[in-house]
Amino acid sequence: MNNKIMMKTPLVEMDGDEMTRVVWAKIKEIVLDPFVELKTEYYDLSIQNRDATEDQVTMDSALATKKYGVAVKCATITPNAARVKEFNLHKMWKSPNGTIRAALDGTVFRAPILAKGITPLVPSWTKPITIARHAYGDIYSAVESKVPQGGKAELVVTDADGNETRTIIKEFPKTDGIVMGMHNTDASIRSFAKTCFEYALDQGIDLWFSAKDTISKTYDHRFKDIFAEMYEAEYKEAFEQKGITFFYTLVDDAIARVMKSSGGFLWACKNYDGDVFSDMLATAFGSLAMMTSVLVSPDGYYEYEAAHGTIPRHYHKYLKGESTSTNPIATLFAWTGALARRGELDHIPELTAFAKKVEQVTIEAVEEGFMTGDLALISTVPNKKVLSLDEFLKEVASRV
Ligand code: NAP
Ligand code: MG
Repeated sequence: MNNKIMMKTPLVEMDGDEMTRVVWAKIKEIVLDPFVELKTEYYDLSIQNRDATEDQVTMDSALATKKYGVAVKCATITPNAARVKEFNLHKMWKSPNGTIRAALDGTVFRAPILAKGITPLVPSWTKPITIARHAYGDIYSAVESKVPQGGKAELVVTDADGNETRTIIKEFPKTDGIVMGMHNTDASIRSFAKTCFEYALDQGIDLWFSAKDTISKTYDHRFKDIFAEMYEAEYKEAFEQKGITFFYTLVDDAIARVMKSSGGFLWACKNYDGDVFSDMLATAFGSLAMMTSVLVSPDGYYEYEAAHGTIPRHYHKYLKGESTSTNPIATLFAWTGALARRGELDHIPELTAFAKKVEQVTIEAVEEGFMTGDLALISTVPNKKVLSLDEFLKEVASRV
């Protein structure tokens, strides 16, 4: 008799590269397949298949996410010159995450997985700090120029009727210099703010937003105003009902507060701040292998993944037939995040309960000393047992 949990709508499954592709297959085989009749629409985002399909497969997987609403993604290689040579690629294909993010107009939320024994570098952080990075504009799509001595730089804005407004940036009479022009759009800031408000409501956590409006009185101030207007008009009531708060503060004040906090909130960051602070948070919470990542679109589509990459050093050992102690937790939690969401949307409470159970027993295993090598290095639990990838997944499955 088959008493596996049945699914209704398929999950969009985006397979990937190298060691994480190995981890992917083992998670399905050892932890998921015995309990769930997995229903997925499979997209192979391996570098070989992206090359063979001229990257169409990446776009197709993003469109499928819009159709079904929930995706789970394996880490993928973003080609650079060395990878183009290694795989004899037709082109230096773009980052799949960038393509998917652009297609879904999404915001990336990163949250650490906490376990006793793995103490954050900041001891007061007892609850996770989730960071939301606005992944559009600012210095990431800026234009830059050198200015030779004697030159000047001006900002020229031309309106739809051709009228110009000119502002002197700087005259350089005595020395060479540099200038940069960056932009953002109200539409992008609005969808960023919307996704952050919705995520905070969904998770029942406070929302902080930080920028530097005292110095940047037009640019950063626009971000501040848009968040404030949307909060007043659309979210204030819902936040009050949920008992959560939204507040804006200067980015340097935010950092001071974050360091003194006990965690448990969502921190919405401008593009550069999010890039920098998310790496700081990942390290301070213990391990990149314990950092989850979810792309949320303003239309309510979700794509779950691990924050780390394809772990090539482990893959080369694996190819030589050696056993590796690769940590599957962030990739496993991408699956459980996606299955729990699917369960909620399709009203299959046993699917959501199964996903939560897997998360709970995974953390219990680590707290009782069963862990992979990366965690053994930082865990303070006594009598640690360092397990291989397979052994750790079997330990988790046996506890489910
Ligand atoms: P990485 O794959 O995250 O690995 C960096 C190092 O972190 C590893 O060598 C390993 O350290 C440690 N590590 C990361 N995840 C681990 C895990 N689950 N278990 C144990 N140790 C883990 O980053 P990378 O080497 O910079 O990038 C490799 C490839 O991944 C690149 O081609 C890049 O394009 C791609 N990438 C993809 C994504 C994505 O798809 N979202 C994100 C980042 C990078 P030790 O070697 O010390 O064991
Ligand atoms: Mg970064």
